[in-house]
Amino acid sequence: SALLTVAAPSLCVLGVTAVATASVTGNDAPGEAGEDIALGGDELDEEAAEAARAAHAVANKQFDTQLQGLTAAADDYAERASRTQGRIDLEERKAEEKRLAAEEAKRKEEEAKRLEELRPKFFLPVERRGLSAVYGQSGLNWANLHTGIDFPVRYGTPVRAATDGTIRTQYHVSYGNLMIITAPDGTETWYAHLGSYVYQSGFVQAGTVVAYSGNSGNSMGPHLHFEVRPGGGSAVDPAAWLRSKGLEPS
Ligand SMILES: [Zn+2]
Repeated sequence: SALLTVAAPSLCVLGVTAVATASVTGNDAPGEAGEDIALGGDELDEEAAEAARAAHAVANKQFDTQLQGLTAAADDYAERASRTQGRIDLEERKAEEKRLAAEEAKRKEEEAKRLEELRPKFFLPVERRGLSAVYGQSGLNWANLHTGIDFPVRYGTPVRAATDGTIRTQYHVSYGNLMIITAPDGTETWYAHLGSYVYQSGFVQAGTVVAYSGNSGNSMGPHLHFEVRPGGGSAVDPAAWLRSKGLEPS
């Protein structure tokens, strides 16, 4: 509105100049038109004075109209300026909110990434308490050499996913209740002789309790038989595999 504050007085000056010009035109002598004319006392002077007053009145009226117009214009401008400012404020606030939301999303993403990097990716399937049978061992219970390692745990011991992966389960005459978790790289970890399942399908993260140990299938007593099969192929020594992940099973 600063623009109009300046504009209004300058138009006032123009208006006043117009009035002065109109007054002077009706007289021979310069000076204050009304006074000179009134003092003359002449018929023509009276007419001239009347004409001057009329012109003055017209000029005043024009000036008033101009002023009214200016006032209206100023009000209109102020209102539009206010609306424009309001819109700018709203847009700035929206932009700021958008920027803050983007920052927050980025911060959360970085925090999630950091936590994901910190998260252990491999776990022992049960708490460490030594092994009751090692890989490759021969014995009466196995038709061939032992394809996994046995953890001597009590019935109902929580069994954790050794890797992230997708779960499937099946019953096998020798393995009993068997859970197989397939890691994203294709490595399978097998958990045999289970007592019960927590999950029977779906994707879990390493360390999730997925089942409870038991004595199902060809088992001479409660324990967890654990196998590792890279790419879903032949079994390798789980103890060596766990050690390669920084875990000590025995
Ligand atoms: Zn075994």
